Amino acid sequence: MDDSCFFCQKLRRLAELPADEVVWEFPSSVAFLGPWQYFAGYCILVSRRHATELFQLSVQERREYLEEMNLLAHAIADCFTPRKMNYELLGNQVGHLHWHLFPRRDDDPDKLKPVWLALNRAERDAAEKTRLQAASLPRAEIAARLRAFLQKHLPR
Ligand SMILES: [Zn+2]
Repeated sequence: MDDSCFFCQKLRRLAELPADEVVWEFPSSVAFLGPWQYFAGYCILVSRRHATELFQLSVQERREYLEEMNLLAHAIADCFTPRKMNYELLGNQVGHLHWHLFPRRDDDPDKLKPVWLALNRAERDAAEKTRLQAASLPRAEIAARLRAFLQKHLPR
């Protein structure tokens, strides 16, 4: 844990977060429903351990984290049938391992480009921000669908 880290702080107060924000608590990571629900099912999967690079995790931690990321991607793809999943592990703004799982839409005018170009526009353009945050379903429903898939497919 790193007291100055945004995700370490967030992981410490999971119980205080809105019910639709915490999608799933895995052994090695926690899945949060992201703000950009134009990409229905978009999640951020945060490692429970503070590390900035995958190679800083033990082999076991890394395998678990990658398996959880894979399972969450499968859930998003199964629930929302994107044309393609995008997996992004960047950490330029918050240096704590977190995957962005963006299901890309077929009707997205920017579907051939990384989402960050549109999200960058949204920082300067309120209408674009609203468009990219708007969900076709209530957030609680999106989270519930993902949880139902995970409940059914988690290894026991
Ligand atoms: Zn951290």
